[in-house]
Amino acid sequence: MDCIFCAIIKKQIPADVVFENDRIAAFRDTNPQAPVHILIVPKKHITSLDTIDDADQAVLGEIQIVARDIARRERIAEIGYRLVVNCGIAAGQTVRHVHYHLLGGRKLLWPPG
Ligand code: 5GP
Ligand code: ZN
Repeated sequence: MDCIFCAIIKKQIPADVVFENDRIAAFRDTNPQAPVHILIVPKKHITSLDTIDDADQAVLGEIQIVARDIARRERIAEIGYRLVVNCGIAAGQTVRHVHYHLLGGRKLLWPPG
C-alpha cells in the first residue's frame, strides 16, 4: 500500500514527530496553515472517517486526549485552537489516511472556506 503517513509512521520518510505511542503518531505539517499545525494520526491505516468502525473508537477518542496535551505543550490551549478532520473530496482530503489537523497560534476564521 502506498501511503505517505504509513511511511512516516514506519520512519521510512522523515517527519518532525512531536508525539508517538503504540497507537498514535503526531508530526508537524510540511505546509503549515497556522503557526502551530500538527497532524495526529492512528498508526493503523484507516482511509478516512467514512471507513472507521466500532473497533476504532478507543484510538479515535485517545487522539483527542493527545490533541489536548499537545495544544497545552505548544501553548495554544489558552487562546484556543481547532481540531479538524477533512473527509472525502468535497472537504479537501488529500491524504487517504485519516488525520486530525491541530491548528493554532493565530485567530482562526469561521466558517472555514
Ligand atoms: P488533508 O488535505 O488531506 O486534510 O491534509 C493533508 C495534510 O498533509 C496537508 O496539510 C499537507 O500539507 C500534509 N502533508 C502532505 N504530505 C506530507 C508529508 O509528507 N509530511 C507532512 N508532515 N505533512 C504532509
Ligand atoms: Zn496509511
